[in-house]
Amino acid sequence: MIVAFIGAGPGDPELITIKGLNSIKKADIVIYAGSLVNPEILQYASSDIPVYNSAGMDYKEVCRIYAENREKEGIIARIHTGDPSVYGAIQEQIDFCRKENIPWEVIPGVSSFQAAAAALGQELTLPGVSQTVVLSRISGRTAVPEKESLEKLAGTRSSLILFLSISQIEKICTVLSPIYGKNTVCAVVYRASWPDEQIIMGTLEDMAVRVEEAGITKQALIMIGEVFRAQKEPFFYEFSKLYDPEFSHGWRKVSRKS
Ligand code: SAH
Repeated sequence: MIVAFIGAGPGDPELITIKGLNSIKKADIVIYAGSLVNPEILQYASSDIPVYNSAGMDYKEVCRIYAENREKEGIIARIHTGDPSVYGAIQEQIDFCRKENIPWEVIPGVSSFQAAAAALGQELTLPGVSQTVVLSRISGRTAVPEKESLEKLAGTRSSLILFLSISQIEKICTVLSPIYGKNTVCAVVYRASWPDEQIIMGTLEDMAVRVEEAGITKQALIMIGEVFRAQKEPFFYEFSKLYDPEFSHGWRKVSRKS
């Protein structure tokens, strides 16, 4: 069997790719990350196949399923939340498949940070403001290497998106305040694209209190950076050159009236 690592998207079942969905429809075995994958997606799988929730399994148990079914025809749909390349723990599974000569493929998905930006109506790369997006997290059970400490990442004052970190919002705001400035706009997006999605807007000064008042302790992203000023202040950035009437590019020539 081929192991298809599929990005299920951030929650809304319509945000899976057609390729990912087709793979689930054809799957002979499904293993899904039950903590965040929307179970509605599972209804597209055949009703008579084994479905495992990896939330209750360890690495060896998951790999055993890959190994035990390697000689059979078909697809193991291994469904991860968001895009599997971001905090998806897929590398060790791909390496297992490589070592065991089990065919595999990765089908990308919409990451939660993209769904959060969509919910806000926010471009993360505004000309003249920031052209860089940093995806990171605060140390938890998995340590962040010291060279990527929050202080160092914040040094560029680019658009910063923190996964897996909402429980430490107070500490994050304290560290970032002197670097970005305490009035820097930030957003916390809880369960982006789910029916119970919540958006909390604030500044580095008041965000921790707002998050506490909202009772948000998990499944949220913290988004910080000058770009988020656009949530309150339209047109404060430079316009994109892509649609600039004075700027030609490969697909469009400046039309000048003589
Ligand atoms: N691969 C996933 C991330 C998995 S790590 C992706 O691409 O989105 C799990 C963390 O992702 C959560 O702690 C939370 O910070 C974030 N997350 C996942 N789904 C989310 C959602 N719908 N809304 C907000 N944050 C989400």
